[in-house]
Amino acid sequence: MRIDEIILLYVVITLGIVGLLALLAEWRRRSFNPRPSEDRIFRCSQCHYVYTDDPDVDRSRCPQCGQFNDPVRF
Ligand SMILES: [Zn+2]
Repeated sequence: MRIDEIILLYVVITLGIVGLLALLAEWRRRSFNPRPSEDRIFRCSQCHYVYTDDPDVDRSRCPQCGQFNDPVRF
């Protein structure tokens, strides 16, 4: 085996290990991140307070002033 072949092999293996570790770290980060909340977002039509409530709630009472509001749709 020639010396440049050994160096090439060494570089390829090192890059492969680094790439694998980066993939593993990314996969771990994704699997540990909590899923985004599915709560509905409400914006009070009276006091403009923004709050969230359970996804099965159609109209929610504003915690600031008590006004009933429809969920914000995107
Ligand atoms: Zn309000």
